Amino acid sequence: MTHTHALNFDRLVAHRAASVNASGIRRVFELGRSLKDPINLSIGQPDFPVPDAIKNAAIDAIREDRNGYTLTQGIPELQTRIKDHLAHDLGWDFSDSAANPMDAIVTSGTSGALFLLAMATLQAGDEIIVPDPYFVIYPHLAGLFGAKPVICSTYPDFRLTAERVEPLITERTKFVLLNSPSNPCGVVADKKTCTDLLELCRSRGVLLVSDEIYDEFTFSDGLTDPTPDGTDMRCPSPSRNSGGNTNGQDTLVIRGFGKTYGCTGWRLGYAAGPKPLMMQMAKMQQYSFVCAPSMGQWGALKAFDVDMHDTVSAYQKKRDMVLDALGDVTEISKPGGAFYAFIKVPERLGMTASQLFEKAIEKNLLMIPGNVFSTCDTHFRISFATSNENLARGLDVLRDLMKG
Ligand code: PMP
Repeated sequence: MTHTHALNFDRLVAHRAASVNASGIRRVFELGRSLKDPINLSIGQPDFPVPDAIKNAAIDAIREDRNGYTLTQGIPELQTRIKDHLAHDLGWDFSDSAANPMDAIVTSGTSGALFLLAMATLQAGDEIIVPDPYFVIYPHLAGLFGAKPVICSTYPDFRLTAERVEPLITERTKFVLLNSPSNPCGVVADKKTCTDLLELCRSRGVLLVSDEIYDEFTFSDGLTDPTPDGTDMRCPSPSRNSGGNTNGQDTLVIRGFGKTYGCTGWRLGYAAGPKPLMMQMAKMQQYSFVCAPSMGQWGALKAFDVDMHDTVSAYQKKRDMVLDALGDVTEISKPGGAFYAFIKVPERLGMTASQLFEKAIEKNLLMIPGNVFSTCDTHFRISFATSNENLARGLDVLRDLMKG
């Protein structure tokens, strides 16, 4: 008779998985499910439908049986479109004859690109520099690969400046993560911050990773330093604002389609940067995600022709509703983009953000306490990607809570 042993999950599960808590955001979502008709200001995704041209292109691809694997690096049509877009937007030269050849690949979401980067670059003992507050997966990118996240506080103005980063760079630093417009603050890095940070990374031989998932979601007043004649109203990118010397080995740009076009579930993003790095990331994709979802890629091909200005303007008005409702009861760094505000719990309340979160729950309101995105618990994030009615209801509750 053979012996059977109950599976010991403590033995089975790797430290890597066991040591990570489920995302704090997921916990808020679960709490939300237990509330009856909550006012939900916790959701980090757009509340508008995917534009028809994009939907139809994806549906056509399914109907026309274009459902198989694609090339790992993406369907050639989309890869070319992305390179053309970046050549125009950043001035990058994707030709093989360029002094430092660049490449772009389609990834399974922006998170997918971040994972490929971590897989391709990090090993035990390495370090990455992560802004605090951060998008929730940034510190884990390091931890999951045995590397160390070095946290760079950006309080109180939420700017990842060269002065703040410089003392944290060591021999082990592999890359610095910049996110603009940012999650959870909505803060847009100004051009000088981008240029200085890139110069610093360049001088120390460190890669600058620019997570630009909200780049198209920059408000008309989001730029602190637009060109005087208003000719360049694009969101500053380190790769664009580096004095023209951009085809270097120093920047990896990561962008996505999910937030801009409301298709977060399609898992679509892209990464672009120096060819030797892109080749390693593509190889990692081959052995993990294989390729980004095929129908989504055909849909995304139409995205570059869709004008989202009206949607972004509507979100700017929602941002103004937040500032109007709460600006005189607490401190808020004015969001220049994305759809988040990171709001300080007034000191006179003598409360942490988690404690304010509990009070908000009692009023049927969901937001996200800052300790989900930060080593501090002094602020909380609301998402204004919701109907004006819902937002107004939520802001009334928050105003009452914070008046004290
Ligand atoms: N980066 C940032 C800053 C984000 O806020 C998000 C999504 N919340 C991502 C990356 C991941 O996006 P995706 O859905 O494309 O993986």
